Amino acid sequence: MNKGDSELIKHSMLENGFTETDNEETADICIFNTCSVREHAEKRALAKISIARSRKAAGKKLVVVAGCMAQRIGEDLVLKGKADLAVGPYQSPELGAIVRSHTKKDKSRIFLSQTEADFAERINFDLVKNKDIYPWHKWVTITHGCENFCAYCIVPYVRGKLISFPSEKILNYIKELAAEGIIEITLLGQNVNQYGQDCGEIPFYQLLEKTAAIKGLKKINFLTSHPMDFNSAIADVIKDNRNISRSIHLPLQSGSNPVLKAMNRKYTLSDYYRIIDTLKSKLDDFSVSTDLIVGFPGETDSDFRNTLKAVTDIRYDEAFMYAYSPREGTPAFTIKEELTRTEKIERLNELIALQRKISLEKRESRINRIELVIAEKSSRRSADEVSGKTFLNHTVVFNGSSADIGKESRVEITDVKGSTLVGKKIP
Ligand code: SF4
Repeated sequence: MNKGDSELIKHSMLENGFTETDNEETADICIFNTCSVREHAEKRALAKISIARSRKAAGKKLVVVAGCMAQRIGEDLVLKGKADLAVGPYQSPELGAIVRSHTKKDKSRIFLSQTEADFAERINFDLVKNKDIYPWHKWVTITHGCENFCAYCIVPYVRGKLISFPSEKILNYIKELAAEGIIEITLLGQNVNQYGQDCGEIPFYQLLEKTAAIKGLKKINFLTSHPMDFNSAIADVIKDNRNISRSIHLPLQSGSNPVLKAMNRKYTLSDYYRIIDTLKSKLDDFSVSTDLIVGFPGETDSDFRNTLKAVTDIRYDEAFMYAYSPREGTPAFTIKEELTRTEKIERLNELIALQRKISLEKRESRINRIELVIAEKSSRRSADEVSGKTFLNHTVVFNGSSADIGKESRVEITDVKGSTLVGKKIP
């Protein structure tokens, strides 16, 4: 989501007459587009903001904090002199105009409104021709915000209510992208499966189907799905359209029903298994990845064993695994933690070891298969190699040159090194 917003922020700065520099030390204005999901991300952002602030003495620098952390603690940062401007997610795509106005006359410093009138447009047709990030790929934000209020999550408080953008506009935007040579897009939302539920728009599966029908698109990804809203209609659309990625990211969070209930996730483990069975029955080849939190308050050893069992049963291709970190302002923050940090890390390490083994086995099972890959960059190891992602979202390195970047190749998988597939291009 932040990558999408950062592109909009950058565009608005350029539009307002600013130029980009890759030298943070000499920049007149430093903008930090921040994430609040984990305490660790905030700590890193705060350290970087503090470094930028310390350079202010040497010149007339402006330190701007944007995004979710700005919404959460931006006012405090400005009032304590740690940042000059705080701009929340509703207004960050207009950051260029805000900074321009600040440098000229308007000395307002806090822009954290969450009222509808202040919500800045996300689908910006000016970006159609902007190819400086990936000339073949675009992030397309289809919803903003979330109202699911998972007990551990700060997002609903900082990004606000669910807002689905008009499908006609989204589809016209994607058509223009495809006409400009974009072959891969990623539909983005905190829970894309909830698209349309706030405003009577078409449901997500129809938006996905209409997107897949747009001429020129070779790969369509979507992030993130919520098990509560993932249904067989979505699986059918994936099955019927070869240009939709076969990689489904479906955050499980915990394999224990009492913990899922305490997390306010609104599905049970059986519901989740049903989705996996549906995917298995409809798709001949797909991967599933997930997010898992260990050590949520109240998680017993037996709850944790149930998570290990679920991971063993489901056999994820990839998992993003974290020890629970309390976020102030969320319902879970007030629940007393019984596990020490060390105990949480012990559980996390056990889970990571299990998942690593499964990830490796899943990758090894791809050897001798032919995969479609859009090369994304030159390989770090050799100028004669490029890397990209398969339709199952596995990273693969294969023989190629810069001419292959942004194009689709057929690649035979020959080996696995670490978590990376190795392959050779089929002419
Ligand atoms: S669905 Fe839950 S975890 Fe995801 S953004 Fe919304 S509240 Fe957070």
